[in-house]
Amino acid sequence: MKLGAHESVAGGVSLAFQRAAAHGARSVQIFTRSARGWSSPPLAADERRAFRRAARAAGVPAIAHGSYLVNLASEDPLVRGRSLEAVRDELLRCEALGIPALVFHPGSHPSLRRGLKLVARALDEVHSELPEIFVRVCLEVTAGQGNCLGHRLEHLEEILVRVNAPGRVGVCLDTCHLFSAGYDLSSESGTEAVMSEAVRRFGRRRIRCFHLNDSLRPRGARVDRHAEIGRGAMGLSAFRFLVNDPRFGDTPAVLETPDSSRYARGLRLLHSLIRK
Ligand SMILES: [Zn+2]
Repeated sequence: MKLGAHESVAGGVSLAFQRAAAHGARSVQIFTRSARGWSSPPLAADERRAFRRAARAAGVPAIAHGSYLVNLASEDPLVRGRSLEAVRDELLRCEALGIPALVFHPGSHPSLRRGLKLVARALDEVHSELPEIFVRVCLEVTAGQGNCLGHRLEHLEEILVRVNAPGRVGVCLDTCHLFSAGYDLSSESGTEAVMSEAVRRFGRRRIRCFHLNDSLRPRGARVDRHAEIGRGAMGLSAFRFLVNDPRFGDTPAVLETPDSSRYARGLRLLHSLIRK
């Protein structure tokens, strides 16, 4: 795995790389715009250039995380319209920055079947409007809080089966979300079984990135609360398995905990789990 972290873009998107270097991160995830607002000013041309320059110099792969407000399963025409617009805008930002993967949670809907259909339809709409872009939407597995879709791998698989262009959709696996959704990541053999299921359902190449987080809450709690590696309910077995899984040797895998001053510690711990 290319072990990295979600880095702040305060002061400009290109600054994420120097923060990553300071933390010892070998991959980086960023927000390309405010994650909690519907609109953001466009990226200035000099910011785009600075980002591409910094990315080349760092040699560190970047992925992006989309806005938390987006709900591609919404029935509300206003929310749906805004969500589609936000995904389009964020895909174009990624395209301008040379970022190949944009992570979104699938969305929430009280009816699983109808919700998954709506997500697939929304992706089709976005894809037909942006036929040429290289960046891929990556659907992230969720903890299954409330009506959130995507807390079973088969939910993501169903979306992939339904979309017109499955080759344009990737998957992001978050260890905290999987554990909280009930998957057994408490042992290496449990983790191996979950990863083998994911590879079987999606294909290894579609698994474009990982979020490596421990969970504050117990397995199956279906509550999305990230904890630092080794400081939550999961223990280290899942992480030990993943950092040594040759199928994901080149896959970006980022920490997503609020205190970035603890990233260096977390990354050192993960590196120490790699078998020599
Ligand atoms: Zn995540």
